[in-house]
Amino acid sequence: MELEYKTKNAWEILDRSSVFSFAEDYKHFISEAKTEREAVNFFRKEAQLQGFADIFSQGTSDRMFYAVEGYKSMLLIKKGKSSLENGINFVFAHLDSPRVDIKQNPLYEGFDVAMLRTHYYGGIKKYQWVTIPLALHGVIILKEGKKLEVCVGEMPDEPVFVISDLLPHLARKQMEANAKEVIAGEALDPIVGSIPEGEEKEKDRFKKHVLNILYEKYGIIEEDFLSAELTLVPAGSARDVGFDRSIIASYGHDDRICAYTGVRALFDTEMNNKAAAVVLFDKEEIGSEGITGAQSDFLEYAIEELAKREGLRISARSILHKSSAISGDVNAAIDPIYRDTFEEQNNAVFGRGIAVTKFTGLGGKSGASDASAELVFAVRKLLNDNNVPWQMAELGKVDAGGGGTVAKFMAKRGIETIDAGPALLSMHAPIELASKADLYSTYLGYKAFLKNFDFK
Ligand SMILES: [Zn+2]
Repeated sequence: MELEYKTKNAWEILDRSSVFSFAEDYKHFISEAKTEREAVNFFRKEAQLQGFADIFSQGTSDRMFYAVEGYKSMLLIKKGKSSLENGINFVFAHLDSPRVDIKQNPLYEGFDVAMLRTHYYGGIKKYQWVTIPLALHGVIILKEGKKLEVCVGEMPDEPVFVISDLLPHLARKQMEANAKEVIAGEALDPIVGSIPEGEEKEKDRFKKHVLNILYEKYGIIEEDFLSAELTLVPAGSARDVGFDRSIIASYGHDDRICAYTGVRALFDTEMNNKAAAVVLFDKEEIGSEGITGAQSDFLEYAIEELAKREGLRISARSILHKSSAISGDVNAAIDPIYRDTFEEQNNAVFGRGIAVTKFTGLGGKSGASDASAELVFAVRKLLNDNNVPWQMAELGKVDAGGGGTVAKFMAKRGIETIDAGPALLSMHAPIELASKADLYSTYLGYKAFLKNFDFK
């Protein structure tokens, strides 16, 4: 009998060729889907190919459905053998990531360069976003109502955008500032042009030149920015890291890594008894508000519609109260350089499999969603029975800070919820690091949960 609790590195458990080939599929997705809208479009296309039908249209499927809310939030569900009345096994994840959004009236010039004003989104260290190549993604609704999808800076022959920073020679004052103030919110403006147009005595010649290009190329006028959602994200594709290629460097692992593994798990699995669903939310990084956030009642609305289709006369609420969920979000792996920030016995180790988190929160567990010991046991048994590499983890030292996920908004609905996802290095940085072994362990964990979990 093994008396001591020990975790194992997932590379020692998993079939390495499966790990590497899964990682290639994921790299394709994470390089392509850099915004909520792009991720929803990616998954919707895949779901339609697999035969999923839109819950809100007269689809032909009788067991695989999807629904999209406000272009940025999505539910996918596969029915099991038993009725929806018995509840659903959910994986929840979020599609939004920290980034630099463009303001509604952004274009200006100064000292012969044209720039865009921005307003950052989510928890970022502002100094990480300067002097790196950025791509512009989003949508813009033109004067006549035509919607233009924007993606500039991802192809090698396309221009990128860069936010400048002060040279070290003249940064004496800046270098003394608190890291929070090193780069001000208003200093995150990318350069978008530097060629003048028209007569020298005219005003705003650099801005005008940019406006001319925008009009000639895309038919955009300055007023169109008002009805746009444009955002700057790190340019370029995901890359392997390390001589052994064991790690993926990419923008937006948090939390599209959980979205992708969740959806793949759903696609690849025939459900046993219960229905299984993956729900992907927006706005998690800024409080889960709005019609596409986890606090909206999109979930109830979609479930109610499904129940109606099944001829059930029960509320979505009673279905959710019989349901269980993994709140799929990333955790922080112990960074060997900053080990003092972590409590080594209870924090996640990079590469040791999917990190299960009983509670989140700040300081004295403030604002935490807390899974019961009974639920933890059921998940522990499930992961062990299915040989999924996993570890128990809380986020950092008790007083180091903290954080939350959508778990609390799901638990509030009566859904038994526990957090589980891969632990990253450099979380919320423009480029985050994920272990390929953790990625695959997360996929295996979600798959086991969606297919077999039976708690209520
Ligand atoms: Zn997250």
